[in-house]
Amino acid sequence: MKLLLLAIYLLISVLRFALDWLNLRHRRQAHPPLPRAFHGQIDEQRLARSEAYALAGDRLGFVEGCVGVLLTLLFLFGGLLPWYDRWVDGLVDGFILQGLLFFALLLLVQMLFGLPFSLYRNFVLEERFGFNRMSFRLWCADLFKSLLVGGVLFALLAGGSLWLVSVAPDSWWLWVWGFWAGMSLFLIYLSPNLIEPLFFKFSPLEKPGLETRVRELLAKVGVKAGKVLQVDASRRSGHSNAYFTGIGNVKRVVLFDTLLEQLEDEELLAVLAHELGHWRCGHIRKRLIKSQIVALACCWLAFTLLNSHLLPGLLGLEQLSFAGQVLLLGWLGSLAGFFWTPVSSWWSRKQEREADQFAVDLVGSGRELASGLVKLARENLSNLFPHPLYVAIYYSHPALLERVLWLESRKNSKR
Ligand SMILES: [Zn+2]
Repeated sequence: MKLLLLAIYLLISVLRFALDWLNLRHRRQAHPPLPRAFHGQIDEQRLARSEAYALAGDRLGFVEGCVGVLLTLLFLFGGLLPWYDRWVDGLVDGFILQGLLFFALLLLVQMLFGLPFSLYRNFVLEERFGFNRMSFRLWCADLFKSLLVGGVLFALLAGGSLWLVSVAPDSWWLWVWGFWAGMSLFLIYLSPNLIEPLFFKFSPLEKPGLETRVRELLAKVGVKAGKVLQVDASRRSGHSNAYFTGIGNVKRVVLFDTLLEQLEDEELLAVLAHELGHWRCGHIRKRLIKSQIVALACCWLAFTLLNSHLLPGLLGLEQLSFAGQVLLLGWLGSLAGFFWTPVSSWWSRKQEREADQFAVDLVGSGRELASGLVKLARENLSNLFPHPLYVAIYYSHPALLERVLWLESRKNSKR
């Protein structure tokens, strides 16, 4: 069984690398000229630059992926896991404390291995292409704050779950699920009020008249805008985005200042209309319900497998602590996740198209959203020529060329 698992893991890893390679090669082939919406926005020089950006990103991703595979092989198949398990067992007493320490140290090691990559990505790669706007000091402050927030959340979630397992050994799957569901709802509320302000500065929109237009747009679909804010994302990166949060009918709209720099008002409103589409078409609610159903099934499956005592045998081990078995389960879940990715990507692309249609109907044409997307692709050096297979497996949004052509074709369809 151990060999079979090893073979499946290696196969998936090779497949992942092969897909990256396929995607990169596809982009370097000759392509038909870009459609009209791209003229004047993206020229040959831009394309060459975005190709160089993708190549640099892929190279880094490849090295990072290789390090990840090597560490996994060493830990799960090289005999490190049982050794680590016994070591933690001898270090502290008590089910909850042992479990917490087991995961905390592993997360810390994982973070340490990730640090050089994060540094290189920000200060070499993103810097070279003009995206990085972060000072080393800000990077350190961010790291410190993330560790603090992450540590508190980890202690709360992992500690609470382990406690529930210890007090309700026959039914913990239901309790743990309920605990996580409650916590995630609580975090939706807490995040914009407590966590995000730790990292970003939110302020009212500077552009005169824009807030009124945003409120008018939201009112059109019966959504009340609580606060309309801009956020100083430009302190960190040149990449741009827009989002809104909030449960119920009162929404908090947040626009990246980089987005405000890059788009005209009409394009910005079209992007917001698309986001509103997600809410109006029930995508956010559906995603929440779907993830809770999946979480419930996972909790039950984990409970059943952990009680079956089959897990240590999968790696040829006699015994493994509860935490060690949960880790193994998580890894098995990530293998299964690879096969689930195309399904969830397809589902997401379908919803993106629905939200696009909603935006077209609301704004009256697809032209503004299309030109906004083209500008964002220009600013973000996005890949205009992804491999269709890569799109099918990984893309949560339709590929840009296809999306823009679709939007343009819709421009006169209304009324
Ligand atoms: Zn969307």
